[in-house]
Amino acid sequence: MKLLYDIHTHTNYSHGKSTIEQMVQSAREKGLEAIYITEHAMNHHYAKHLNSEKYLEMKCEIERLRQKYDDIKIFFGTEANFISTDGSLDIPDSDIEIYDVILAGFHVMCRMKSFKDFLKLKLMALLVNKLKFGFLSKLSEKYCTQAVMNALDRYDIRMITHPMSNYRFDLRKVAEKCAQKNTILEINNNRRLLNCEYIKSIKDIDVMFAVGSDAHNKNDVAKVDEAVLIALESGVIDRVVNISVN
Ligand SMILES: [Zn+2]
Ligand SMILES: [Zn+2]
Repeated sequence: MKLLYDIHTHTNYSHGKSTIEQMVQSAREKGLEAIYITEHAMNHHYAKHLNSEKYLEMKCEIERLRQKYDDIKIFFGTEANFISTDGSLDIPDSDIEIYDVILAGFHVMCRMKSFKDFLKLKLMALLVNKLKFGFLSKLSEKYCTQAVMNALDRYDIRMITHPMSNYRFDLRKVAEKCAQKNTILEINNNRRLLNCEYIKSIKDIDVMFAVGSDAHNKNDVAKVDEAVLIALESGVIDRVVNISVN
């Protein structure tokens, strides 16, 4: 069994510890065919100092590294945030074309699009998860599901990162839509919230998965052992796009 590529990594452009080049070098040392540099989009607390110019600077750096290293493919992506029930992501429309891929996920440390979205998404999820206001869980799930389903209609999202962390949505509904749209669900190595139970509950749906390191430093590139175990235990390892089972 072999990891082909790492689809989810961060750098020192946000709160990661390593440079883009160090991440690429680590991926080469570990024998990967490719690495995706997927920095947080700008509504994330740790990316609030970033702007369109900075993302372009990252793209230029990746272009430079593509010339320097011909033994690895380097893709430029972003991990955008679901910030509204209307499906908005925190990427300006004019920036979309600079990326090779867009990943999207919910994050606690993230500014929502409007005060209404703050109430429906962030505050509601906080009340349900931290303060155990169970009676709000269905309503919270409804709003989060709206945000994801609408975003899947509006954008070409390659992967939903760490599904079911903090913000829970209707996993079956989202998985069905992902199957239609060719969007992958991540089995995240750090936040293993898409657990065996969840995966087994959607196994009959023809959706694909990827294991993601979510590495924030060079040592963690390609570290997907826990995620692979979950895929094996759930019986979906043959549907993990970045693992070769031969
Ligand atoms: Zn994330
Ligand atoms: Zn991440």
